Amino acid sequence: MNYTLAELHCHTREVSGCAKVYAPDAIKHFHENGYDLVCLTNHYKRGIFRRHYENGEPYIDSLEVFLNAYRTAKEVGDSLGVTVLLAAEITFDSCYNDYLVYGLTEEQFYKYPKLHEMTVEQFSHFARQNGLFFAQAHPFRNENTIRTDPSLIDGCEIINSYENEDTQSIEWARENDLIPLCGQDYHRYVDMRGFKTAFHGEVRDIDTLKQKLFNREYSIIFDPKKQINTDKDNF
Ligand SMILES: [Zn+2]
Ligand SMILES: [Zn+2]
Repeated sequence: MNYTLAELHCHTREVSGCAKVYAPDAIKHFHENGYDLVCLTNHYKRGIFRRHYENGEPYIDSLEVFLNAYRTAKEVGDSLGVTVLLAAEITFDSCYNDYLVYGLTEEQFYKYPKLHEMTVEQFSHFARQNGLFFAQAHPFRNENTIRTDPSLIDGCEIINSYENEDTQSIEWARENDLIPLCGQDYHRYVDMRGFKTAFHGEVRDIDTLKQKLFNREYSIIFDPKKQINTDKDNF
């Protein structure tokens, strides 16, 4: 079988002030480390629309910055043979948690502005209506993180560069039948730990990615070459 080796959680500096690496360098870095696909999950939260909320600048200007990072990354990816897909890490105004969302198109980001003003419940409903994959990122990161009602989400992150193999998250995912995700939460060069999501077969577009996530058609590979099977019988 051939595999598509993917990163599902990556930030770049154009949007995410906490990130140190700009999109072109980040994609080159993933290419050098053997990845075929990168989901760009820049922060999408009130703070990235600061210029709108605090200075009264048009909301669309900040949204363009968000989308331009993806467009730049995609251009570099196209030249290197790395698939770059648009995604987001959303933090809602009403809650401290972070959520990974796969499947929103550029058109939908324009059509549905200020998604961060929704509650988790409202967004969950919206995600189901629109066939998005909706997951809680690092559900045990710190004391402010609270576990989402599992019926509202599809999955949760169980491994990233900050928590490594997060046994609490693994247990929580298993107990609640949540689909387990691996993402490095890449912000800096040192976050490149080589953790990969190995999708079974070819993934070149977001619909295929979502389908393989929902169907658990992937394994998680992390240092040092340890593997987690995600299908229901083996997770
Ligand atoms: Zn960040
Ligand atoms: Zn993140």
